Amino acid sequence: MNSKKHLGHTARKRFGQNFLHDNHVIQNIVAAIYPQKDQFLVEIGPGLGALTEPVGEQVEHLTVVELDRDLAERLRHHPFLHQKLTVIETDAMQFDFGALYADQTAEPKQKLRVFGNLPYNISTPLMFHLFKYHDVIQDMHFMLQKEVVKRLCAAPNSKAYGRLTIMAQYFCQVMPVLEVPPSAFKPAPKVDSAVVRLIPHQTLPHPVKDLYWLNRVCSQAFNQRRKTLRNALSSLFSPENLTALEIDLNARAENLSIADYARLANWLADNPPVEVLKDEIMDSEE
Ligand code: SAH
Repeated sequence: MNSKKHLGHTARKRFGQNFLHDNHVIQNIVAAIYPQKDQFLVEIGPGLGALTEPVGEQVEHLTVVELDRDLAERLRHHPFLHQKLTVIETDAMQFDFGALYADQTAEPKQKLRVFGNLPYNISTPLMFHLFKYHDVIQDMHFMLQKEVVKRLCAAPNSKAYGRLTIMAQYFCQVMPVLEVPPSAFKPAPKVDSAVVRLIPHQTLPHPVKDLYWLNRVCSQAFNQRRKTLRNALSSLFSPENLTALEIDLNARAENLSIADYARLANWLADNPPVEVLKDEIMDSEE
């Protein structure tokens, strides 16, 4: 049998299609999501419905975002779910989740509970896209590469701690939920997988004035993670500035907390470095 074929559908590699088929794993994921009847559940990449069906059975309504035209069409004609489903055939990375929240007619509006077994090639940019909507999202449950889940949940002073950790934990409380072996999917991916839960903070614990600077300082520090911060950040901060901001000059990127990065980002927002301003002027003249 063609291992790429599952329930009469040939998996498309470019859409990152690895379909879940292990019932025990599926039940555990649904139990972790714990969908309640009147909640606003939104699935990204429903595919052939492995999670859509058991979640759909527990709620009155389910919204799904699917890019593959054939799969979207199958879901519109789903034998027992089609009346409950709103099928949005689009790229989740371009989709306005804020409008989905705002367009609800019933009051009070419900925050979104987003979940999905995501295509691994787009999981990081898709999470960054969703973080923009953190204030209209109640929680998110995603199947990801196990390595990515480790990075999302990492603590300082570890190898897995990096820009992804900082950005995710800036917006969300993050926790691992369960590990899933390749054999739970068809076709089986080459890597181990894991499910993560992200709960957006009600109030951001370390708010920054401008996310650009948080991203910038994290990229610069972690792109040279073996260097001391004195060297890695030398184009942005003088050693005196770092010391005044209570940063140990000999520390490395992985030793700083999110609060430290937020402090650095806020200082940069108030004191944008001259070189950077020059870069921007050059860019705008191109
Ligand atoms: N949830 C299903 C399918 C997982 S495979 C299961 O667990 O079996 C990933 C799914 O995401 C596929 O259905 C694929 O077509 C869809 N997909 C891929 N890229 C997407 C994108 N950019 N936006 C929305 N869906 C996407």
